[in-house]
Amino acid sequence: MTAPPATKTPVAILGAGLTGMSAAFHLGEAGVPHRLFERSDRVGGHAITVEDEGYRFDRTGHLLHLRDPEMRALALSWIGEDWVEVERRSMIWSSGTYTRYPFQANTFGLPPQVAYECLAGFLKAHFAADRPAPKSFEDFCLAHFGEGISRHFMLPYNARLWGVAPSEITADWCARFVPLPKLEDVVAGAVGLNDRELGYNTRFVYPRLGIGVLSEGLGRALRTKAELRREVGAVDWRGRTIRVGDEVVGYDALVSTLPISVLVDRLIDAPDAVRAAASRLRCSHLYYLDVALDGPCERPLHWVYVPEERYPFYRVGCYSNFSAALAPPGCANLYVELADRAAPDLDALLPRVAADLVELGLVASPRAIRFARLRRLDHAYVLFDHAYFASLDVIRPFLADHGILSVGRYGGWNYSSMEDALIFGRDAARDAARLVREGGRGTAP
Ligand SMILES: Cc1cc2nc3c(=O)[nH]c(=O)nc-3n(C[C@H](O)[C@H](O)[C@H](O)COP(=O)(O)OP(=O)(O)OC[C@H]3O[C@@H](n4cnc5c(N)ncnc54)[C@H](O)[C@@H]3O)c2cc1C
Repeated sequence: MTAPPATKTPVAILGAGLTGMSAAFHLGEAGVPHRLFERSDRVGGHAITVEDEGYRFDRTGHLLHLRDPEMRALALSWIGEDWVEVERRSMIWSSGTYTRYPFQANTFGLPPQVAYECLAGFLKAHFAADRPAPKSFEDFCLAHFGEGISRHFMLPYNARLWGVAPSEITADWCARFVPLPKLEDVVAGAVGLNDRELGYNTRFVYPRLGIGVLSEGLGRALRTKAELRREVGAVDWRGRTIRVGDEVVGYDALVSTLPISVLVDRLIDAPDAVRAAASRLRCSHLYYLDVALDGPCERPLHWVYVPEERYPFYRVGCYSNFSAALAPPGCANLYVELADRAAPDLDALLPRVAADLVELGLVASPRAIRFARLRRLDHAYVLFDHAYFASLDVIRPFLADHGILSVGRYGGWNYSSMEDALIFGRDAARDAARLVREGGRGTAP
């Protein structure tokens, strides 16, 4: 047990990423006293921008898809005047050529044998008499896209993105993110007739100086500012206190945006079943490169999907094509997301990456690379593996029973966007305010 609380707040919020800050913002608007603790020296979590020798880098591509009118208005008010709205320009590089996104509806331009395999496989799957419910993401791809599209794009690309075999994960994450094209779209796309953009992300909003502008603006809009460099340690769920450095803070409701497995690890004497369930949750980490070019990016693309194993990266994006203000005049900067989850040797990797960027026509010559920095994201993609629901079904009710709202992309253990984070935070504020009114008792919904 921790010491008795030295201080007390109705709502304690852990983590000043977009979810935690949105919770704080809405609690502030509702007049509910709260405190917001952040372990880092800045707000924003995954949604930050760092400056490096005149180039500005996000933590790989962070584009805003604002679908909810209330969130759009709020997000734009936090960003201020300086943003752009951009029409997606993304392509796939495979079989030595570029095709349009999404692959499944744009096979025109691929070598004829590949395009044939994709179309024939799709038609066979589409007209199959018997389609059993898919058990894995691999089954889902084969059932919906057929052999060719699965083999040439969906399976290799997703193995590289998630860092695990598509048979290890389910399709429970993908309804919004993987466009299921109609028969007419696939056929039209195979003969080069598709003229409309498909998918959830055809337009996006982007602050001209990087996504960190959103986080900083939200941070400034908070009535109660985030407490930086204040890492939350042990959580005493029985006594409803948290330890932050030397301080023991009591709470009625706790909003946690820490990865849910990390939160459970910090609970003092969590039940064995809850601990065991948390230890089964899986999330992939990610290595990527911040690349600064001395000259321009040779193609006007926003990002490129790279499914083939012979390339060390599965996606490359160009920040300065989102907004020229992210690089010095005449220069460009890229993010290069690496498929291998093992720590790379940058000296050995860089010549390969440089040659491949030249092959993709993005960089004029390896000499155009001014610098490349290796970065790591500890939590990148929550894995919807076969134990996902069973594990969360043990952890979530336990937390809810003790006034703990675990929310956000990693707190809620899901695959979601920045706009979702803002919505999760708003909803958590409402639930936390209710818990406070009820004196901290009761089960959160
Ligand atoms: C590679 C990648 C690309 C993405 N691209 C997009 C995109 O294009 N568009 C989009 O909308 N979304 C994108 N996202 C998703 C987006 O980044 C997240 O949805 C969002 O940033 C999650 O915010 P959060 O507040 O829930 O979590 P986080 O940003 O992880 O915030 C959690 C905070 O908690 C803090 N913290 C951790 N431990 C402690 C502790 N013990 N005490 C105190 N504080 C602590 C952390 O420092 C962090 O600030 C992407 C994500 C990834 C990984």
